[in-house]
Amino acid sequence: MTDPAPLLEESAAREAIVEVGRRLWQRQYVSANDGNVSVRIDADRILCTPTMTSKGWMEPSDLAIVRIADGEVLDRGTGRGPSSEVRLHLGVYRERPDIGAVVHAHPMHATAFAIRGEALTALLMPESVVALPRVPLARYATPSTDAVPESIHPFVRTDRACLLEQHGAIAWDTDLESAYLTMERIEYSAQITLLLRQLGGVRELDADQVAAIVERFGLGPLPATSLEG
Ligand SMILES: [Zn+2]
Repeated sequence: MTDPAPLLEESAAREAIVEVGRRLWQRQYVSANDGNVSVRIDADRILCTPTMTSKGWMEPSDLAIVRIADGEVLDRGTGRGPSSEVRLHLGVYRERPDIGAVVHAHPMHATAFAIRGEALTALLMPESVVALPRVPLARYATPSTDAVPESIHPFVRTDRACLLEQHGAIAWDTDLESAYLTMERIEYSAQITLLLRQLGGVRELDADQVAAIVERFGLGPLPATSLEG
């Protein structure tokens, strides 16, 4: 879990971030200039999307390079400099040397749950058990302060994503594609939970069904259901 992240060449990482930004925007996971994406390019540095820029319209050269240890901007790129929300990303990289990418977005349905202050915990489908058994809720923190990374600290080692109260969602993983796909899964879980409630109520897998999935896929113990940091 703490092995260093497998890394992309910097130029490939730039292209990958631009592509993920385009997908986030096309899927309406970010509006206006919201959201940010980063990728670790070595043990000490990350590439980060620029502030005040639509993630649907970035150029590879727009990305900034930031030092993980102290947040110093090493290269502003041709964009507007790194997002102030990069602190959120740095908190993850500092604690998890195995993490290679972080995706933060405001997907509509997931953000509605975040604003309500409600974690996504229902085990609705086998995929929920295997890929994302819970999306905990990190308590509200004022943007661009150290309280933001502190708010997600309870989940950085145990989970691969969380909701940010009154704000949005964040996902982290060894590689960018995996972190992005987790964001898709979060939004899907939020959307289907809402639809089920409109249909009359959520219907979860029962304990025996969950146990059989855990056994079949060789999963470790599922995270505890305590979901508040
Ligand atoms: Zn945000």
